[in-house]
Amino acid sequence: MANKMAACIFCKIVKGEIPCFKLFESDKALAFLDINPLSRGHALVIPKIHGEKLTDIPDDHLSELLPIAKKLAIASGAKDFNILQNNGRIAHQEVDHVHVHMIPKPNEEEGMGIRWPQQ
Ligand code: C5P
Repeated sequence: MANKMAACIFCKIVKGEIPCFKLFESDKALAFLDINPLSRGHALVIPKIHGEKLTDIPDDHLSELLPIAKKLAIASGAKDFNILQNNGRIAHQEVDHVHVHMIPKPNEEEGMGIRWPQQ
């Protein structure tokens, strides 16, 4: 476990060893812009403690993630958005530290309305 945490890219972001575009932080969670966004404003919300899958994280840490994703969705100004959370390779998980995606969806008529800087 200690080795996995030492190598974990999101643990390094939590510790400030790798930079990120931080959007929100609490004692238990961190939100930042995805470096390879599927749309403008694509954000990730992660628990600060390490766990590979949803089933590895205690409920009191997990329960912070969805309300933060909701705040980010509202802040993005996007009317439509996806909340996604992948567990395991077959389920398309690439980074083995639990994360919730908030992916704003462009609105053809009104645009994204994103209020934070261009990625
Ligand atoms: O859910 P999944 O594991 O497939 O998604 C991982 C996400 O983490 C990707 O969208 C990727 O762009 C993002 N990522 C990041 N910063 C990194 C490494 C990966 O935002 N340093």
